[in-house]
This record gives sequence, structure tokens and C-alpha cells, in this order.
Amino acid sequence: MTIETITILTGAGISAESGIATFRDPGGIWAQYDIEDVATPEAFARNPELVLDFYNMRREKVRKAKPNAAHHALAKLQKSYPGTVHIITQNVDNLHEKGGAEVIHMHGAHHTALCAACGARWPAPPAMALHDPCPECGQPATRPDVVWFGEVPYHMDRIGEILQSTDLFVSIGTSGAVYPAAGFVRLARAAGAEALELNLERSEITPLFTESRHGPATELVPAWVDGLL
Ligand code: NAD
Repeated sequence: MTIETITILTGAGISAESGIATFRDPGGIWAQYDIEDVATPEAFARNPELVLDFYNMRREKVRKAKPNAAHHALAKLQKSYPGTVHIITQNVDNLHEKGGAEVIHMHGAHHTALCAACGARWPAPPAMALHDPCPECGQPATRPDVVWFGEVPYHMDRIGEILQSTDLFVSIGTSGAVYPAAGFVRLARAAGAEALELNLERSEITPLFTESRHGPATELVPAWVDGLL
């Protein structure tokens, strides 16, 4: 079968070797923080300073991080593959962009700020403060441009179309625990795609893939890309 369109979904595991902690691994972010305290709209309403501090700290960590061999390999694939390569990421870091790739940020990004009043977006300052005014409407309604638990991920219509027309779906460094992203493999396979999982270890959704390879992303991803090009 000719592979004309490849759709890649990345998760926290692809950035782990760049020093950005994953969410669910031992020692990951949810071992140190409670989701309910920092990553829900209710948490922001209850204690906005705590939520802004958490994201300011994460943004600073990401600002200093460098893309690794897996990010670079995907950028090379996107530039050099004779067909189309879509990259959808659940990550809110910008390591794909720093590595030279174009990605769809379904869970938002640390590097933009969002106005909760008018929906405007602008480059996030290094530290967001409570009551920062929106540069468009002037309302003191700045918030991190990240999709919190209970909110609807971005670009879902476009992602749905992409999954319908892909020949190969590849999942990299994601636990398969967070929906709707965890359901993408089912949608792609139902539309006729082959599916490959590249992850450190078996995930909750490994049985849904036609093939799984286990190991660190910085080894698996460049080897897979070199095999394709
Ligand atoms: P997760 O923490 O649930 O799962 C990470 C997966 O990556 C695990 O299956 C783990 O085995 C695997 N992994 C760990 N180290 C790896 C490595 N070196 N190579 C390959 N695989 C490795 O993360 P997820 O599935 O992305 O969870 C989704 C949520 O996490 C999303 O909401 C996302 O926004 C958020 N998140 C993003 C970042 C980031 O932007 N870098 C970091 C943490 C969490």
C-alpha cells in the first residue's frame, strides 16, 4: 500500500528527554500537583494566583528546553517526505516548532496568552499576572492558552478530517489515557489506516495498533524516520 498521508500524534513522552516532565509517569507532574488544583476552569476561578504560578513555572522550564532527536526527526520527515505529514500534539511546549516542524496544538500552548473575555491571543509574557489587561479589549481577563480538563480541545473539526484521510497513523509518547486524543487511533483505523505506536512501554491502547515499538523516543523516532525516507 502506498503511504501518501501520515498523521502523527505526539504526547508528553516525546519531550521527556528534553527535560520536560510527563504527566502520568512516576515523578511526573500529577505526582507533585493535584489536577483539580491547577488544570481545571474551577481551579482558576477558585485560586487564579496558584494556577498562574504553576503555568509561569512550566512556561519558564519550557523556554529553556531544547528539542531532542525525536523532534528533529519529525521536522525532517515533514520537510522531506514525498507525501503529506500532519503532526498533532497534545503538548503545550513549543519543542516541535523549535525543531523546525509545523504542528497543530490541540491542547493549546504555553507561548500564547488567551483573553477569557474576547478570545484574543497574543505572545505570552514570561510571567502572567492576575488582572493583566487584554491588548485587544482591555479586559483584565488574561489566562493561559491551555485546554484544561473539562474544556474542549482546539481544532477538532480539522483533526477529524485529517484522521479520515490518513494512510498511516503514528502515536508517539502518549499514554492513551486522555480523550479525545486517545480515541484517534480508533477513528483512523475505522477509516482504513494502518497504525504504529512508538512509546517507552506498552500503553493502555497498545492493542489497538497494528504495530508497536517500545523504547525511548530519541532512539525510536529517528530510526523509524530513517526507515521511511
Ligand atoms: P502522559 O504523561 O499521560 O504519558 C506519557 C507517555 O510517554 C507514557 O506512556 C510514557 O510511557 C511515555 N514516555 C515517557 N518517556 C518517554 C520517552 N523518553 N520516549 C517515549 N515515550 C516516553 O502524557 P500524554 O499522553 O501526553 O498525556 C496527555 C496530557 O499531558 C496532555 O493533556 C498534554 O497536554 C499533557 N502534557 C504536556 C506536556 C508538554 O507539553 N511537554 C508535558 C506533560 C503533560
